[in-house]
Amino acid sequence: MARKINLILLGAPGAGKGTQAEIISEKYSIPAISTGAIIRAAIASGSEMGKKVKEYTDRGDLVPDEVVIEIIKERLSKEDCKGGFILDGFPRTVPQAEALERLGVEITDVISIEVSDEDIMDRMSGRRVCRACGATFHVKYKPSPNGETCRCGEPLTRRADDDPEVVASRLNVYHDQTEPLKKFYDERGKLKIVIGQEKLEDTTRLTAEALEG
Ligand code: ADP
Ligand code: ZN
Repeated sequence: MARKINLILLGAPGAGKGTQAEIISEKYSIPAISTGAIIRAAIASGSEMGKKVKEYTDRGDLVPDEVVIEIIKERLSKEDCKGGFILDGFPRTVPQAEALERLGVEITDVISIEVSDEDIMDRMSGRRVCRACGATFHVKYKPSPNGETCRCGEPLTRRADDDPEVVASRLNVYHDQTEPLKKFYDERGKLKIVIGQEKLEDTTRLTAEALEG
């Protein structure tokens, strides 16, 4: 039997974590858990939690640690995580990583996907999402087979936080608060670096090598 994979994907917003998370999820039949997707769903549903966090995400700020820690604690307790999981977008701060350790969550691998700020700005401007089913696309790098329409038939939209000014501020937040996690996991002997490539399948191959090699 294959070894258990409890993976954290690190990387700037738009580095391609979500796409790689989906690919690894299918390959190993383990859930890909995106705190960003959970938060966006909560905002769309108009729940109490959604109302509380909307102002943060609209500004490109991080949602308070205690909120995302609660989200992840609940999600990881579900049955489908027993055989492994992928965390996409969590932890994003050192206190979040410390909380994960305190919860006793074992992490087997941490992969950081590295892309320059300049390339990130270029990528985010072409990103599209489906508000109905949550699928993500890119007009240049990962187009929908139906153009500006999703596979499910809904029109694709740009996320409010993919606006260039908001992206610049999210990159600052990433460098200040999330990048220190590379040292945190390197000290624990878990960190592997993948240089994000222009072609999606090249990043996929390097990520698979990091996981299997
Ligand atoms: P990105 O494209 O930046 O990876 P995500 O979809 O992961 O975006 O997250 C979108 C937004 O949700 C973030 O900008 C942030 O406001 C919030 N968010 C997601 N995950 C976390 C987290 N672990 N801690 C704090 N805020 C988070
Ligand atoms: Zn859709």
